[in-house]
Amino acid sequence: MIRCVSCGEEYEDDEVIYNCKKCGSVLEVEMEVDVPKSTFEGRRDNLWKYKECLPVDADKRVSLDEGGTPFCRCEKLGKELGIDLYVKVEGSNPTGSFKDRGMTIGMTKAMMLGVDTVGCASTGNTSASLAAYAARAGLRCAVFLPAGKVALGKLAQAMFHGAEVFSINGNFDEALEAMTQLAREKYLYLLNSINPFRLEGQKTIGYEIVHDLGWESPDRIVLPVGNAGNISAIWKGITEFHNAGFMDDVPMMTGIQAEGACPIANAYRDNTMDMVPVENPETIATAIRIGAPVSAVKALRAIYDSNGMAETVTDEEILAAQKLLARTEGVGVEPASAASIAGLKKLVEQGDVDKGERVVCVVTGHLLKDPNTAIDACVDPVQVDADIDKIKEILLNK
Ligand SMILES: *Cc1c(COP(=O)(O)O)cnc(C)c1O
Ligand SMILES: [Zn+2]
Repeated sequence: MIRCVSCGEEYEDDEVIYNCKKCGSVLEVEMEVDVPKSTFEGRRDNLWKYKECLPVDADKRVSLDEGGTPFCRCEKLGKELGIDLYVKVEGSNPTGSFKDRGMTIGMTKAMMLGVDTVGCASTGNTSASLAAYAARAGLRCAVFLPAGKVALGKLAQAMFHGAEVFSINGNFDEALEAMTQLAREKYLYLLNSINPFRLEGQKTIGYEIVHDLGWESPDRIVLPVGNAGNISAIWKGITEFHNAGFMDDVPMMTGIQAEGACPIANAYRDNTMDMVPVENPETIATAIRIGAPVSAVKALRAIYDSNGMAETVTDEEILAAQKLLARTEGVGVEPASAASIAGLKKLVEQGDVDKGERVVCVVTGHLLKDPNTAIDACVDPVQVDADIDKIKEILLNK
């Protein structure tokens, strides 16, 4: 069953629908976990280990072995911040971001529905993921990207996997509007996160964090928020496992946005459910350069219901946190992902996060997604002859 999150109207699972016909709000898939947690033990460590909790037929899966990502304790950085810190490394998914979790379920659903073309608008990672999964499924794939605003690695992936790539003169929000219209006119099946089946895959981040911690909830989960699908999905996963009695507590869901693209943080600051879109979103963290998040209602509900919060960070803070994580812990992430670390640092300094809290930052995409930003943040390599004396001299003078 698919249900409207605002008016509760229900729809059949096999109806192709992206918004409630009655009120226009967003939809979610109704799922209840009715197996014991021992069910998941001893299985291969990908997200399909939770197949009983997923709304598609696992035997028909379109999969690249996604999920089961590294869960790393960050002792040094945690000590520096005075907290117990972990990162969930989503850059280790097949195409380098958490989008693969949504795409395996979304693409499996597309196959069950018998569609022949899929599409998305994307700041980059959704298109990279969709292109790969469409190739695997053998479906035609069209993607809309905001011209000049997609990180190099993501563009390379979308093109190389054979998607039909359109560079749209406009921002992500405008590209999504156009793509959604195409989908409504049934030219293709939409696999943006407005599609509730995408979020059914992404909710497994919440499952895995609790599972990784030995069936305990962290005090807080911190993640970057762009179109706001992921924070909504993780909260859904957490809620499902909590309702099943798998753990006692739930985490405070904490969303971080870039200062130049922060409609959710603005709504949180005003203590309202009414998100006001940001006209011309701007940030170096292109994956969260979004002014009108489609899942705003779900995200704000997750934040308020979990007693969480939303905060903003500057591009400078994002880049500093990206380098800090890479150099203190060896975890390389793209700028948007580093917003979680930057936001956490700010919240600790402001006293909004208590000392000793157990915090999980979801680092959403791989460092190599945006090689240009990484190289720009570094000094050039030392160029020298293969002469050991010259090299010794340089090393000793450092
Ligand atoms: C998509 C994406 C985000 C934003 O996730 P939303 O679900 O749109 O809020 C953050 N970081 C990375 C790396 C992404 O690819
Ligand atoms: Zn409705």
